[in-house]
Amino acid sequence: MNNELRLILDAHSICGEGAIWDEKNRKLYWVDNHLGFVHVYDPETNRDRAIDVGQPVGTVVPRESGGLMLAVRDGFMSLDEMTRKTRLLAVPEGHNPENRFNDGKCDPAGRFWAGTLETPTHKGCLFRLDKDLLVHRMLDNIRCSNGIVWSADNKTMYYIDTPTMRIDAFDYDLKTGTISNRRAVVSVAGEHGQPDGMAIDIEGKLWVAHWDGCCVCRWDPTNGNLIQKVRLPVSRPTSCAFAGQNLDTLYVTSASAGLDAVALAKQPKAGGLFQFNPRVRGLTSFSFAG
Ligand code: CA
Repeated sequence: MNNELRLILDAHSICGEGAIWDEKNRKLYWVDNHLGFVHVYDPETNRDRAIDVGQPVGTVVPRESGGLMLAVRDGFMSLDEMTRKTRLLAVPEGHNPENRFNDGKCDPAGRFWAGTLETPTHKGCLFRLDKDLLVHRMLDNIRCSNGIVWSADNKTMYYIDTPTMRIDAFDYDLKTGTISNRRAVVSVAGEHGQPDGMAIDIEGKLWVAHWDGCCVCRWDPTNGNLIQKVRLPVSRPTSCAFAGQNLDTLYVTSASAGLDAVALAKQPKAGGLFQFNPRVRGLTSFSFAG
């Protein structure tokens, strides 16, 4: 099947991450995690602007009160994309900056969920930042916190801790922001690479970027089946997001981190931003309500 895969930005990012579409401003936000850049891509002009936020940044979400919210090395930070002013708004209790923040997204009520990475001595966690700027520790013993999305009925949260090679589901209580009944819904065979960032479509299927898998896969969480595999000319796709006026384009970030000269010569577009036509629309992503 021809999905019309296109390289949109030959960005050469070290670790592109955290893609999210802002419907209000019609812009795609993404980050270069290790370099500490927030990128603002405008599909209308094909222009991309990078903002240095001074420390590694795992993900970005729009903020209802204006500007952006970030999960950075030290905690949760606000960013005014016009003035480039940043402000650290919340640091989880006992958070060790070495367990820097990685991927995250907002739930349909505007709570910002983001998780951290393990170090050789300390496991990571999954945190929830509420609109009152209080942080709640929701999961412990996380190794590499990545994709997170909610079902259209708000009753299920899907989550990826990459080294588990699974997509897990939780029952979700939107009123309280609590999770329960963790179970695996997809087990990823090693040949596909490791599950990383994730998006969800209107049919409830999960689109996952597969690190070291050269692909984005569409998974069915009701039976664990692989529905579709879209190959990319880079080995390390990292995140994906539905974008555009009809949420009918899938953007994919990628990484060049950790690739040696031989690997980079074989995949000169590593670190680029790609798009393709998934032939299904995505669900809306949410802004931080605080
Ligand atoms: Ca990731």
